[in-house]
Amino acid sequence: MKFKIAPQAPRGMHDLLKDDAELFLGIFNEILKHSYLYGFEYIRTPIVEKEEIFTASLGAFTDVIEKEMFYIDKKEKGEKYVLRPEGTAAIARAYLQNGMHSWPQPVKLFYFGPMFRYERPQAGRYREHYQWGLEIIGTEDPIYDAKIIQTFDRFLRKFKLKDFIFRINSIGCLNDRNKYKKYLKKYYKKYLKNICEDCKRRYVNNPLRLLDCKNEKDQEIKKSAPVIVDYLCKQCEEHFKKTLEYLEELEIQYELDPHLVRGFDYYSKTVFEIYFVEKTTAIGGGGRYDYLIKFLGGKQIPGVGGAIGIERLMDIFKIHQIKLNVYKKPLVFIAYATEKAKKYAYYVYDLLLKNNINVVENFAKNSLTSQLEYADKIGVKYSIIIGHYEMGSKSVILKNMLDKIQETIPLANLVEELKSRLK
Ligand code: AMP
Repeated sequence: MKFKIAPQAPRGMHDLLKDDAELFLGIFNEILKHSYLYGFEYIRTPIVEKEEIFTASLGAFTDVIEKEMFYIDKKEKGEKYVLRPEGTAAIARAYLQNGMHSWPQPVKLFYFGPMFRYERPQAGRYREHYQWGLEIIGTEDPIYDAKIIQTFDRFLRKFKLKDFIFRINSIGCLNDRNKYKKYLKKYYKKYLKNICEDCKRRYVNNPLRLLDCKNEKDQEIKKSAPVIVDYLCKQCEEHFKKTLEYLEELEIQYELDPHLVRGFDYYSKTVFEIYFVEKTTAIGGGGRYDYLIKFLGGKQIPGVGGAIGIERLMDIFKIHQIKLNVYKKPLVFIAYATEKAKKYAYYVYDLLLKNNINVVENFAKNSLTSQLEYADKIGVKYSIIIGHYEMGSKSVILKNMLDKIQETIPLANLVEELKSRLK
């Protein structure tokens, strides 16, 4: 088959190369260490889930369900499959399926992986993006709402980042929300002619989403809308107060955002988002989801969690010039001088790697000169050169690339010699 133009990655999806690829892995590495330190264990769920996992939990009238789902062509017994748009609902499914209620509670899990949303690609908004997520399931205790925020806060601070803030709100329990929705609708009724088309639909189907509207014109109207915290029951009010007290105890910077509701219906009580001063979009967010497991057919088991978007986090790391090195620059190069010595050179190369010496080759080049040019280009300290004579005498030539001095070293001493010179 011939391509008319060079083949392209799907729209809104990207290859990750060189420094970006290294930063991505560096972040992943730090996330592993940090999540385990803060008491979370790793969970991996499939990238593909049944559609119902999300339709039953995120809410029918949310952007993700209405327009952003990535459907897969193959069906199993009439059940539709999708590429997961987010992690939490799938973790709740896994909690139920694997009987995690019988594990010591609460269960603390972390995940890292790609999410898919069929959005219009733009800066910071892709069709495939990665998330680092945390979930604590099996407790209502507000100290765990604080713990999710604490774990993210301490991660960001590890890299001396400080220009960020947690915006936080409580959207109460279902009763509170139903009560509030009535007042919200009453308020918006006066403006029905003025609000955007999306909001007109939200008004009918999902009034809480009116507060998610990003349309400039609607912002003035939103400013004076009633706020949900004024409608919280005693229990939810107390829960929110305690969450904030825990954050204050740990001196975590937050600000109340009385109109923050977040995009999915499964949230209850605490909701939060993380904003950096230099960006208008959140790098992360989350909240409590005391009804989610019930929505999926289980008992009412409470939970709380959150996720950070890796691409947006990488942007922040780049702005602040934070580098995470996972790639160790090689300091030794190995070259063969004659075709006959190539096999022996390959043997020595393998021996050095087995002994943890970071050695690099370019066996594809067939002249010694071009191999050594490559060694100069990548800036190694030493080159090992192997010719016919060295092969016969079980030795190598060790060339110092700075002063160009060459010496012959018996192969038996090479590993020790390099280790002491590279210390
Ligand atoms: P959400 O649960 O939708 O708020 O997503 C959690 C985090 O994932 C967001 O704060 C973003 O950092 C990131 N995120 C969500 N959607 C996208 C997207 N389409 N492209 C890139 N990052 C995203």
